[in-house]
Amino acid sequence: EKIILEVENLKKYYPIRKKAFGKTEEYVKSVDGISFSVKENTILGVVGESGCGKSTMGKAILNLIEPTDGRVIYNGKIIYSNDKKECISKSEMTKLRGEMQMIFQDPYASLDPRKSIESIVSEGIKKHRNLTKDEIREKAAEILELCGMDRACMVRYPHEFSGGQRQRIGIARSLAINPKFVVCDEPTAALDVSIQSQILNLMLDLKEKMGLTYIFISHNFNVVKSFCDEIAVMYLGKIVEYGPAEKIYKNPKHPYTQALISSVPRNSPDEKKERIRLTGSIPSAVEIPAGCRFSTRCPYVSDICRQKEPEGMNLDNDRTVYCHLYK
Ligand code: SF4
Ligand code: MG
Repeated sequence: EKIILEVENLKKYYPIRKKAFGKTEEYVKSVDGISFSVKENTILGVVGESGCGKSTMGKAILNLIEPTDGRVIYNGKIIYSNDKKECISKSEMTKLRGEMQMIFQDPYASLDPRKSIESIVSEGIKKHRNLTKDEIREKAAEILELCGMDRACMVRYPHEFSGGQRQRIGIARSLAINPKFVVCDEPTAALDVSIQSQILNLMLDLKEKMGLTYIFISHNFNVVKSFCDEIAVMYLGKIVEYGPAEKIYKNPKHPYTQALISSVPRNSPDEKKERIRLTGSIPSAVEIPAGCRFSTRCPYVSDICRQKEPEGMNLDNDRTVYCHLYK
């Protein structure tokens, strides 16, 4: 299995208070040292509560925002590194841009209301390929049809469509230039429940037809568990547990993952599940707790948790958990 994306110790900090001499600066540590890899043609689900840094991480991987530290390696090419000398050139990056795309959460906000569907979907095609006008129009029509929209929609405008249709158009726009790797940022969170599964099925279908690899960001464990091959659970800017989706859902090891899963509604009344209630609220990403960052809310906290940040423990050779309980 080929690795398409490697992320090494990725960080994104936002300075919030500049004091004299720059030495007392404080930061919002939105993404605070994340490492993982994604295999080609798979779906990695990134799950965690809102504000845990999921979206920031997705944008930092695609270089839509500049990371603070770490490395991002796409198809063996270093697309971000603090050491600029080891990165690929700007022109190489421009070529790769088309291969890496994002699908956004809110189809209402992400489609320009003044533009026709044709111009929305063909924008990227114009930039990345040398095609005639007719060829561009044909390509836009094809991808819209692949996304379940009639080509007649091209002369219309975003407000004329429902939320689900708009998300189909948003997906068509992102996939119009044949990307290989797509970060999907809660693509169904703004939609009615009845529409969500249609969009998820469309995304699975497109993945097969177009040979895509997804990072799928969600706050909803129910969506992620059935849709993804692997899951990374994020808490306060860091991954706390990472591995095959089935295993993590059936047998979560990290106390935070256990709590998240215990809050997912049961599939049937006799499914056994104990509800774990977390105490306290998520700490600020400015003052991250010492040691284990989950220690202020963890039911199993002990002294070492407050002193030492847990390292990744490898379990069953295919999953990693960051918790002192598993030494
Ligand atoms: Fe809880 Fe300690 Fe594990 Fe952190 S390291 S999750 S505080 S048991
Ligand atoms: Mg978000």
